[in-house]
Amino acid sequence: MALSPELVALLVCPQCKGTLDLEPAETGFVCPACRLRFPVREEIPVMLVDEAEKI
Ligand SMILES: [Zn+2]
Repeated sequence: MALSPELVALLVCPQCKGTLDLEPAETGFVCPACRLRFPVREEIPVMLVDEAEKI
C-alpha cells in the first residue's frame, strides 16, 4: 500500500485540526491529541470521527 506523500501531508484530524501520525504500515492515522485512530481502507483514508476508533 502506498499513500501519496502529498495527500498524507494535507491530512489533519477532522476533530481538532491537528497533525496526524501515519502508522508505519499505512493502515491508519492516529491523532495523539484526540486519541483517535482513523482507518485507511483500500488506500483511502477515512477521515470521519464517526468511523474513528478510540485508542
Ligand atoms: Zn484530533
